[in-house]
Amino acid sequence: MSASPSAASVAKRVIRAAHSAAASLVRRVVLATLAAAILPALAAWLGKRLVDAVVAGERSDAIWLLGAEAVVMVLLAVALQGAQLTKRLLGLRLGDTLRGRIASKASSLTLATLETPRVQDQLTRSRKQAGSRPMLYVERLLSIAKGALALAVAGTLLAGVHPVALIVVMLAGAPALLVTFRFARRHHDLEGRRTAMRREQSYLENVLSREDHAKEVRLLGIGDSLLRRWRTGANTLYGEQSELHRRESRAVTIAGAIGTVLFYGAYFGVVAMAVERVISLGEMTMALVLFRQAQSGVQSVVLGLGQLAQDQLYMADLFAFLDRPSPRDDVGLTAGPLPGDGIRLENVSFSYPGTEGEVLRDIDLHLPPGAVVGIVGQNGSGKSTLLKLILGLYEVDAGRITLDGLDLRQWNRRALWRRVAAVFQDFARYKLTIDENIELGDVSETEPVTRASIASGADEVRALLGGERRLGRSFPGGTDLSGGQWQKLALARAFYRESADIRVFDEPTAALDAITEAKVFDQIYSEPGAMTLVVAHRVAVLRRADEIVVLHEGKIAERGTHRSLLESGGRYAELFALQAESYVPA
Ligand code: ADP
Repeated sequence: MSASPSAASVAKRVIRAAHSAAASLVRRVVLATLAAAILPALAAWLGKRLVDAVVAGERSDAIWLLGAEAVVMVLLAVALQGAQLTKRLLGLRLGDTLRGRIASKASSLTLATLETPRVQDQLTRSRKQAGSRPMLYVERLLSIAKGALALAVAGTLLAGVHPVALIVVMLAGAPALLVTFRFARRHHDLEGRRTAMRREQSYLENVLSREDHAKEVRLLGIGDSLLRRWRTGANTLYGEQSELHRRESRAVTIAGAIGTVLFYGAYFGVVAMAVERVISLGEMTMALVLFRQAQSGVQSVVLGLGQLAQDQLYMADLFAFLDRPSPRDDVGLTAGPLPGDGIRLENVSFSYPGTEGEVLRDIDLHLPPGAVVGIVGQNGSGKSTLLKLILGLYEVDAGRITLDGLDLRQWNRRALWRRVAAVFQDFARYKLTIDENIELGDVSETEPVTRASIASGADEVRALLGGERRLGRSFPGGTDLSGGQWQKLALARAFYRESADIRVFDEPTAALDAITEAKVFDQIYSEPGAMTLVVAHRVAVLRRADEIVVLHEGKIAERGTHRSLLESGGRYAELFALQAESYVPA
């Protein structure tokens, strides 16, 4: 909570972030806020002198005091407007800065980290609120500072009227402060307990509203039942929260009433002193104005601290996310001791971080330059996982993987990934233009995309829609593609990366027609010097592979060439016969 050291460090980091986002705006907003805190008290003091001058019949004094008060009020208006403007601008800058940092952090984390539920939680919350919440936090800090300063100035002037007045100002805020802290902690605890439930709610909202779920939601008629589930969740969340709000509201009302009674007791004292001529009429007027200012100062401080404590959860989360270590991808060696040795897996075992059960066990494999290795196996047998390990996207638990004789863990990631062209099963669909979807395959390449698009069948998509056509229906003039057309673009992207010598294809033709499939495999088999890995369900496409590995439950069940595997009559032969049968007309 706000008194704990972590709260102080959060506040410090928010200020630092604001400073790095726009130092001059921070300076201006602080100045304007200070002015807005001090000027009202100055006006009250001038007002006191004005009343006393009027009572004493000092005409010229009264005139310049009135003029001075008017100037102060104009300055106050300028300061308030200035604070408003600079806060808006700073808010925009700060939001952009933090959104940029979040995106940069998210793209630099390892896959293992990014996939952890806790990290996903942090990332979702951070992204959702980065635009506005940090600036709200800054505004609360400013409002606390402003309130505290106004309180200090009003308190000092009041102490001059009567020392007891100062004590009353201090005491009047205490009950509200206690209540605020107490409830801030409760809100904080409640939110912490409900994170998972909130995620579930937002997931259900997504299913109900996103276009990729729209077809099934309608056809299966599951909208109503999902909505009922969402409503039950919403009611539970509301029930807990409304109860807390009610209790807080009661406590705040009582605390506020105590404060008001104390203030009025002090008013009474001040008025009595003025009646008894212990203080002047001017001092009474000033004291009454200052009491109001002090009261509003107390309110800003109490309210600000309470809100700050509630923002704590979010801000701490944001910084925890930004503090996650990113592996450096520019360290490590950029060449191995045995160029041309290819990729070797020695006794590799792996389980996904945070999960139990090995997905791969004791895998040995050699992929020399110029070879195409096919991987076959049932769903869940570990094929995609094997590809991700070979590309260094996860680290092996046991054994090792080497490229050119050097352990992957020692390779400089950038140098390693520069050598890779990959088409994953869940390849990316960039909502950019058709040609950009291909060009992203190699940002250093300036060649036209023609060759890569012919080899992948993407040339048909280009001919139909034009290379400049924007993809993604949510953009003006944007269009969507069929699954097969998207896969052609993904393949073209891989083929466009001509310099890559590690080529990985996971079910690269699953959505393609037979003619395009044949064309794509011609291309895959005609990359001299490349190390190529292909996962395929339709085993006939692996006929030309140098080696075929059959995975079963994370282990290598069989290996050999198409011919030798058929001869040995194992799983592969069975699979091939089954698939061949399905092509024979009944
Ligand atoms: P295949 O490609 O052969 O269908 P995968 O390699 O995708 O199989 O998956 C192998 C096993 O690993 C499956 O049991 C799957 O549930 C699990 N798995 C796959 N990806 C992840 C992941 N990112 N996190 C945790 N488990 C995973």
